[in-house]
Amino acid sequence: MAQYWTLKEKAGDCLLFYRMGDFFELFFDDAKAAASTLDIALTSRGEYDGAPVAMCGVPVHAAESYLARLIRAGHRVAIAEQIETPAEAKARGGSKALVARAIVRFVTAGTLTEESLLEGRSANRLAALAEIGSEGDVAIAAADISTGRFEVVAVRRDAVDAELARLAPSELLVSEGAGDVPDWSVRQVVRRPASDFASGPGQKRLEAMFAVQTLDGFGNFTRGEMAAMGAIAAYLDHVATGQPIFLQPPVRHQSGDRMAIDAATRESLELVRTMTGARDGSLLGTIDRTVTAAGARLLADDLASPLTDKGAILDRLDLVDALARDALWRGELRAGLRALPDAGRALGRLVAGRGGPRDLAQLRDALGGARLLRERLARRADLPPLLARLLPGLDGHGALVDELSRALIETPPVDAAQGGYVAEGYDAALDALRETARDGRKAIAVLEAGYRDRTGIVSLKIRHNGVLGYHVEVPAKHADALMLPESGFTHRQTLAGVVRFNSSDLHEAASRVTQAGVHALAAEAAHLETLTEQATQRREAIAASCDVLARIDVAAALADHAMSHNWCRPDIADEPCLDVAGGRHPVVEAALARSGERFVPNDVSLSPDDRLWLVTGPNMGGKSTFLRQNALIVVLAQAGGFVPAASVKLGLVDRLFSRVGASDNLARGRSTFMVEMVETAAILAQATPQSFVILDEVGRGTSTYDGLALAWSVVEAVHEVNKCRCLFATHYHELTRLAETLDALSLHHVRAREWQGDLVLLHELADGPADRSYGLAVARLAGVPAGVVKRAEAVLAKLEAGREATGGLAAGLDDLPLFAATLAAAPAAAKDALREALAAIDPDALAPRDALEALYTLKRLMTDAP
Ligand code: ATP
Repeated sequence: MAQYWTLKEKAGDCLLFYRMGDFFELFFDDAKAAASTLDIALTSRGEYDGAPVAMCGVPVHAAESYLARLIRAGHRVAIAEQIETPAEAKARGGSKALVARAIVRFVTAGTLTEESLLEGRSANRLAALAEIGSEGDVAIAAADISTGRFEVVAVRRDAVDAELARLAPSELLVSEGAGDVPDWSVRQVVRRPASDFASGPGQKRLEAMFAVQTLDGFGNFTRGEMAAMGAIAAYLDHVATGQPIFLQPPVRHQSGDRMAIDAATRESLELVRTMTGARDGSLLGTIDRTVTAAGARLLADDLASPLTDKGAILDRLDLVDALARDALWRGELRAGLRALPDAGRALGRLVAGRGGPRDLAQLRDALGGARLLRERLARRADLPPLLARLLPGLDGHGALVDELSRALIETPPVDAAQGGYVAEGYDAALDALRETARDGRKAIAVLEAGYRDRTGIVSLKIRHNGVLGYHVEVPAKHADALMLPESGFTHRQTLAGVVRFNSSDLHEAASRVTQAGVHALAAEAAHLETLTEQATQRREAIAASCDVLARIDVAAALADHAMSHNWCRPDIADEPCLDVAGGRHPVVEAALARSGERFVPNDVSLSPDDRLWLVTGPNMGGKSTFLRQNALIVVLAQAGGFVPAASVKLGLVDRLFSRVGASDNLARGRSTFMVEMVETAAILAQATPQSFVILDEVGRGTSTYDGLALAWSVVEAVHEVNKCRCLFATHYHELTRLAETLDALSLHHVRAREWQGDLVLLHELADGPADRSYGLAVARLAGVPAGVVKRAEAVLAKLEAGREATGGLAAGLDDLPLFAATLAAAPAAAKDALREALAAIDPDALAPRDALEALYTLKRLMTDAP
C-alpha cells in the first residue's frame, strides 16, 4: 500500500497502471474510471480503511490498445513498471521483499509516438501558452514529438483562439496561476506549476535539450516565447521521466506571415474538419489526394495556415503548375512516393527509445526511395525553382541507407525481442552463432530419429516449450519403458495423455542451441543499438528529407486533384481584388456529383470601387454556398494550390472572416445571438482593407427590427470603416436600399422561378436585388402541409396590407442620417486628445522626470476617455 500511494502521488491526476506480473492493475477510483471507459470487469482485492479496494487490470501484452481507448476518452496514464526481478528483490531484502516499482512514463494525448496510438494522417500536437508581461500578449509554443516539429509564435490576446484553432493541439499546457481558459474547454487543458513557465529556467532547459550554449542560432526569442517553449520542455521531461524526446530546433513564426483565420471562421468554413469534427466532408477530406501520411499532415497544415507572402505562394503554385502540366511525370512521382513508409514518425520513435527494427527498416526504405527520387528528378532540365531548392535536402543519407540495407532483413519484426532481424552476412560472429544453433537443432533432429529407433516408439517426439526447454514426449501408454533407470531418460512431467522426459544427450545438444541463441540475441541487440544511434545522430537531416518528400507529395496531390476537377491556377494581383469566373464549391460539388447533379458555377468581381456585394434571394437558393466557395478559393489560392474556377485573380488577403448568423454554439455556453454579435464585433474590430469577409444572415438571431437595424449598421461599418472586400447574404430585403448611399456596394441575387406553382431554384447569381422572398414557396417545397401554407399566405397578405398602409418597414429609413455623419458625432474626440498628446512628445528631448510626468498625463487622458 505504501508503495502504491507513493507512486499514486507522483502520478497525480493520471490513472496509475501498476505492474503486477503479466498485468497492469488499477486500484480505487482509477479502477472505477478505467473499468467504465474500457468496459472491463471491476473486481476488488483486500481492504483499505475498512472497505474493499476496487481493482481492475489489463494484460501487459494488450496494454497498448487499452491505453489508446483511455487516451481517446481524455485520460492520462502513468505507467509504473517493476524495475527489478523478484529474484533481485529477494537478494536485496530477503524473502518478503517487495519488488521495486517506478513510474517509467506518462502516456498523454499530446506526447504519443506509438504508431497504434496515433492517427497517421494527422499531426499530434502538444501546445503551451505563456503570458508575456502585463500587456496581455501571449506566446504559444507547439511540439509534435512524433515528428519532432517545434514552433512558437507570439500573438495578441484576441488572436489566441485563432492560433489554437489552427494548431488544434491534443493537449494544452497552461500555468497553474493563469486565469480561466474560457473557450478552450473542448481541448484537454493541463495545468502545470508556474515555475515551468519561468523564462530564465526555460531557456536553460532548452539549451540543455538542444545541447547548445545559446539559443541565438535558432532565432531571437522573446521572454514569453522562451517561457512557452520552456514549459513544453519541462512537461516533456516530466512525461518521459528522463528518456530522450525528439524535438527539432524551434521555428519562430511572425503573426503576420500567415493569413489570420479565427476559430469561428475555421469552424464555419470546415477547412480541415467539419463542424462535427470529422475529416470527411471538410475541404481537406474532399481534396486530399496525398499518397503519404506525412503529405496528408502537411496538406492539413497548409490549408489551416495559408500564406501571405506573394513569393512563397508563387513558388508553390509554380511547382503545382509544373506537376499539373505533366501527367506522366506526376504519376511516376506519386507512384514512387506511395511506396515510401512514414519515416518521420519512425524517427520520432527511434529517438524516444521506443523504436525497433521495423522503424529502422522504414528509414532505410524511405531514405533509399528518396535517393532514387532525387536521381530521377535531377535529370529533368526544367525543375521549378522550389523543387530545385528542395532537392538537395534529400541527399546525404547514402552511408546510413547502405549500412541499414546490409544490416537488416527485408521486413524485420516490429519488436526486437525474438531476434532474427539482422541479415545474414552482416556480422560473421553472429552468423557463426546462428550456425551453431542450426547445427544443434539438426543434432536434436538426429537424436529424435535415434531415440525412435532405440525405443521402437514411432510417436516419440522432441519438443520445446518455455518451461522445460527441449524435452522428449511420448504418449502415456509408451511411457513405462522410458521410466526405467537404464533407459537413459529422466522423468520430467506427466500430463493427461503424454509423459515428458529429459536425457543427458538432449540436454547437451539443447544447451548448445540455447546458448548460441542467447548470444545471437545479444549480438543482434547490440547491432540494433548501434544502428539506432547512427540513425538518430542524423535526426535533423532525416527530418528535413521527410519534409521535402511531404512537400512534393502535397504539390503532386494538389495538381492531380486540380487536373481531374478542371481547376485553374489563380493569378495573384497587387491590388485588393477578387475576380472569379465560374467559381465552384468543391465540397458541395462533390456531394451533388454523388447524386448525379450538376453544380452551377458563379462569378464574383470585387474591386476597390465595388467591394461589398449584398446577396439576396430565396432560402435554399445557394447564397451560403456562393459566399463560402469564394472564401475557400481564397484559402486554396494562398495555400499555393489551384482553385475550383475557370479563372481567378486575387489580391492577397491578410485576414479572412466568415460568420453565419444564429449558428448554434451551445457547447461554448453562449446564446446563439450573443455568439453572433461577439463574432461580428471581432470582424468590425479587426478587418482591414486587405481582408475578405463573408457575412451570412447576420442579425437573424433576434427580432426582425433589431436584426434589420443591426445588419444595416454592420453593412455600413464594413463599407465605411473596414473597407474590406465583403460578401453579405441577407433576407432583409430592406437592406438593398443601402445601394443608394454606399457607392462601393452593389446588389446581387440568386435566381429562382415559380413555375406552375412550384419553386425552381436556379442557383445562379444575377445582378440586382431579388424580386421577392419566396419563403412560403420554400415551405411548400419542404412539405409543410398545404393547409398551413395557405394560412400563412393569408397572414402574409394581411401583414403586407398593413405595411402598405403605414408606408412600409423601410419607409422611415429615408430620413436616416448618413453613417459617416453618425461616426463623426461618435465620442472619438477624447481618444484623439490622447493621440495628440502622444504625438507632441519628443522622447529624445525629455528629462527622466519630464518623461514620468508625461506618462502620468497620458494615463490620465486615457482614463478620462469614455
Ligand atoms: P438559406 O437562406 O436557407 O440558408 P441558401 O440560399 O444559403 O439558403 P445554400 O445553403 O447555399 O442556400 O444552398 C442550398 C442547397 O442548394 C445546397 O445544399 C446545394 O445542394 C444546392 N446548391 C447551392 N448552390 C448550388 C449551385 N451553385 N449549384 C447547384 N446546387 C447548389
